[in-house]
Amino acid sequence: MTQKQKLVVVGNGMAGMNTIEQLLKLTDQYSITVIGAEPHPNYNRIMLSYVLEGSKTIDDIVINDRAWYESAGIHLITGKRGTKINTEQKTVQMDDGSEVDYDRLIIATGSNPFILPIPGSDLEGVIGFRDIEDCETMIEAAAKYKKAAVIGGGLLGLEAAKGLVQLGMDVTVVHLPDYLMERQLDVTAAKMLEKELESQGIKFALGKQTTALKGDTRVTGLTFTDGTELEAELVVMSVGIRPNTELASNSGIEVNRGIVVDDYMQTSVPDVFAVGECTEHRGTCYGLVAPLFEQGAVLAKTLAGVETKPYEGSICSTKLKISGVDVFSTGTFMEEKQHTTITMHDGWKGTYKKIVMQDNVIVGAVLFGDIDDSSRLERFVKKGELMTEELYAELTGTGGCCGGGAKVNVAAELTDDDIVCGCNGVTKKMIVDAVTIDGLTTLDQVKMKTGASRSCGGCKPLVEQVMQLVLGNGFDAEVKEGICGCTTMSRDEVVEAIKQQNLHTVAEVTKALGWSQPEGCSKCRPALNYYLGMLWPTTYQDEPASRFVNERMNANIQKDGTYTVVPRMYGGMTTPQDLKKIADVSIKYNLPLVKMTGGQRIGMMGVKKEDLPKVWEELNMPSGYAYAKSLRTVKTCVGSAYCRFGTQDSLHIGELIERKFERVDFPAKVKFAVNGCPRNCAESCTKDIGIVGNDGGWEIYVGGNGGIKARLADLLCKVKTDEELIEISAAVLQFYRETAKYLERTSDWVERVGLDLIQRNTVADVEQRKQLAKRMDIALSRTEDPWQKVLKDPKLKETLFEKVVVTKS
Ligand SMILES: Cc1cc2nc3c(=O)[nH]c(=O)nc-3n(C[C@H](O)[C@H](O)[C@H](O)COP(=O)(O)OP(=O)(O)OC[C@H]3O[C@@H](n4cnc5c(N)ncnc54)[C@H](O)[C@@H]3O)c2cc1C
Ligand code: SF4
Repeated sequence: MTQKQKLVVVGNGMAGMNTIEQLLKLTDQYSITVIGAEPHPNYNRIMLSYVLEGSKTIDDIVINDRAWYESAGIHLITGKRGTKINTEQKTVQMDDGSEVDYDRLIIATGSNPFILPIPGSDLEGVIGFRDIEDCETMIEAAAKYKKAAVIGGGLLGLEAAKGLVQLGMDVTVVHLPDYLMERQLDVTAAKMLEKELESQGIKFALGKQTTALKGDTRVTGLTFTDGTELEAELVVMSVGIRPNTELASNSGIEVNRGIVVDDYMQTSVPDVFAVGECTEHRGTCYGLVAPLFEQGAVLAKTLAGVETKPYEGSICSTKLKISGVDVFSTGTFMEEKQHTTITMHDGWKGTYKKIVMQDNVIVGAVLFGDIDDSSRLERFVKKGELMTEELYAELTGTGGCCGGGAKVNVAAELTDDDIVCGCNGVTKKMIVDAVTIDGLTTLDQVKMKTGASRSCGGCKPLVEQVMQLVLGNGFDAEVKEGICGCTTMSRDEVVEAIKQQNLHTVAEVTKALGWSQPEGCSKCRPALNYYLGMLWPTTYQDEPASRFVNERMNANIQKDGTYTVVPRMYGGMTTPQDLKKIADVSIKYNLPLVKMTGGQRIGMMGVKKEDLPKVWEELNMPSGYAYAKSLRTVKTCVGSAYCRFGTQDSLHIGELIERKFERVDFPAKVKFAVNGCPRNCAESCTKDIGIVGNDGGWEIYVGGNGGIKARLADLLCKVKTDEELIEISAAVLQFYRETAKYLERTSDWVERVGLDLIQRNTVADVEQRKQLAKRMDIALSRTEDPWQKVLKDPKLKETLFEKVVVTKS
């Protein structure tokens, strides 16, 4: 057997590991060691913005977990820094004095955030935004301090600012030019962006140059050249990055601004290569992933001895990852004398499109508000596409027989080598192969296999279009999608297997059912947590880490990072005493808004995270579960107790129902309404279960919805007594719990399984109905008020509300 060559990678980041992933597809000729300074396995740095704003956890953004390294036979060393390469003896020394030998070496040390060399930049509370540690520092600071400044109004600075706003901080972006993202946007798009971000709570100090940071030990503010000042207890510097060249320059490798590499990523020293943000190629240092992956593809082929085209540089495109803000730019976006532009600005719809051409060739574009054409424009710029009458009509929506441009199938236009997912370097052919050779049919599966849409997600529509093109009618993004990309099993198969194989934890399920990622993902973990709780109500230990953030916090996180507290008001009824408590607590905690909800109760808005337990304690009212996949509200009319038309006591039944079914988990939220007569004042027809008093009895309706996909509820049955009403309601709810997909509302569930089946099981078959109601009672017997649970458990209280915890992988 031939001895494998030793390949060492210094830097366990996105560029280095993407190169290794690509190399492993080509050859197994290397025995690989990876040295990473961070304590984590390889994660998606791009997604740190999502971790900061709270929509993803660290676990969610891990690209390759430790098991992946193990199964690929890679020796992973974390928490150690390569300090010197002995290029004669071919060894790398680490900061703990140990050494590893190499035959070939890749330096992939990325960049460091640039910290302005101004007085005070070493104060506590002044940081960059580069890694998990920075994220943790910001999250911790947000829990303690109120005011933040972000210096730098570029892509990263704005994402950091949005994240901090989400965490409840008062954030000002300080920027030297007088418009944002000047390296990616023109003035018009930048001003539209500024307006949009202002409406999302970010403040701006534009045209300001910071001269110093104030403070003794911790930063307290900024001073500017014009003499003005800004208060800030946290300062995030986001003014650019510098290639991390320290290791290379310590080791006699040629370094300019970055580590100098040729078109095959070879440094000045034989057998030493470099890839990623640490490099300088033909005078350019890159700061986005797409170019780094293009470099990685060339380097992987070079190392595998596979013929490759040289790397000749990249054209960069940018998308901002802030929800509700669609901005895109590619290539040359600022026109000069030699350029011609096509500009379309729709102030009413808030959209802007600029296409820049030189000698009729498309060389750049900026889009705001509607970025549907982003992938086409990116491709046109890369290819140097010539503007034609036809293309003009398509891109501007003019011409054509009806005044609109022809609808273009972008996927069909792509060649095999065209990149569909820029962040992960996935070509059209890789997606087509995943479908035609590997037989994959869902987006999640293709994402798992190829990495397409794994990062910023901007290419998802195009990936779907490519799949649609290959699969034709066989592709149905909705129906075909399994529980998630970690498995090919459907919901029913998973639930059946859990029962048959007697599986009791999420980890047992993912292991026994051969999940592709043993720890699952953010999509399957909450679903499995629900299915396990539903199947084993008396023994299952709920896994809070598998729940969505609102459910973990027992409150709804709002746009500005504060929370809303909604106490229960059974059947929409309250008392003067409870109202007084709500008022007292709202005044004490300085809540900006107290609002009546659509479900006849009161929302207390703007509660700070650390105040949540105190608010619950002082209210001493049950949780209204306004954040949960559980029973939300039972809306009632005043019924026979007060209304002269009322024939049934809707208030009494509404309260009874809310007290009975509160707290148990459902696949999705559930709303009830109860009316005293068919005049339907409480709007039963748009509720999951609607109850209407009629002819001395009750009508029960199911599957109504008043949300995005409105649906009128179907009449399930009529009953005579309150006992029948409660029993059938229990049976319907339990049948829904047992047969619906996680996150499926009753409106979709009724459509999918059919009213007939529900009627047979919950009305016609009395024995089955009683069994369902009994299983519902068992589930209900295990529930506990979540606010009280936190108050009784000081450790849980501290972990969730007093100290910041970021899950480490
Ligand atoms: C918050 C944020 C959002 C971003 N968003 C986007 C985006 O939307 N789109 C986009 O294209 N790009 C984005 N980027 C940029 C993108 O993440 C980088 O281009 C990419 O991560 C660079 O990859 P790299 O491997 O060169 O460097 P890195 O991913 O930084 O990896 C380098 C690794 O090497 C380690 N290291 C350094 N020195 C040593 C040493 N001596 N020994 C051992 N290990 C060492 C570092 O600790 C680090 O883990 C974003 C970056 C950040 C921080
Ligand atoms: S639904 Fe009937 S009982 Fe209820 S308030 Fe309206 S009219 Fe009165």
